[in-house]
Amino acid sequence: MKRVLIFTDLEGTAGISSFPNHAALDAKYLDRFRRLATAEVNAAIEGLVAVGVEDILVVDGHGPEGLWYEDLIEPAKFLHGRPLVPWKMLDSLLDEYEACAIIGQHAMAGVRSSNMNHTQDPYGIDHIKLNGKPIGEIAQFALYRGAKGMPLFFLSGEEDACREAESLISGVQTVAVKKGLGGGSAISLTITEARRRIRQGMEQAVHLHRNQPVKPLVWPGPYVLEKRFFHTIDADTLANQIGAERVDGQTVRFRGENIREVIYR
Ligand SMILES: [Zn+2]
Repeated sequence: MKRVLIFTDLEGTAGISSFPNHAALDAKYLDRFRRLATAEVNAAIEGLVAVGVEDILVVDGHGPEGLWYEDLIEPAKFLHGRPLVPWKMLDSLLDEYEACAIIGQHAMAGVRSSNMNHTQDPYGIDHIKLNGKPIGEIAQFALYRGAKGMPLFFLSGEEDACREAESLISGVQTVAVKKGLGGGSAISLTITEARRRIRQGMEQAVHLHRNQPVKPLVWPGPYVLEKRFFHTIDADTLANQIGAERVDGQTVRFRGENIREVIYR
């Protein structure tokens, strides 16, 4: 394995605990946490380089951007900016990579112990279900990439996010840098310990993946995606899209045969 895609999020970074203070676009300390998140990404890059991976593309996945470009280390390249072009347009670029990892991930909306648990929009979305099963951002990402044969082989972040990944993907290696105590608090490792574990975990994950490849995540279709909002007004907006079915006041449903056309509706 020579080419690896790193997808990032912010809320699963050690030390972070609050949407309004740390993660939102207007958060007072957002830049500090962008630097902490970037340092964790750099630890993952160091781990990859140590085992001979040099083509590394880092994709900033946190809504209002979650990385600090100046700190990012070689040999990674950085895909950034908002609005990010639609996934469809990125596909030709990203599908070139052999495997993917996620750094800084949180658990899905509704996981009680998970610090900052949410799926996509913490203030808007109650939950998302695919074929009746609640899913979070990990499943969305892994299924989307899995559709073209790309496996998610490593994830770091919050402990509940690690368990979520393991429940989806057999053989995925995970590193927890933070344990949630509830929506608003957590126990984090120190900065140095978090980075050490990510670097070592990534090295180990590549070794294991080379010996026994992790399989791409694929669920059998056809697909039914249900998105439930906290407020009817958000369902009103989404229900205007082509193919949308209104289930009830707060819920909108989409159907499809192609997971890539359904999973991020
Ligand atoms: Zn997220």
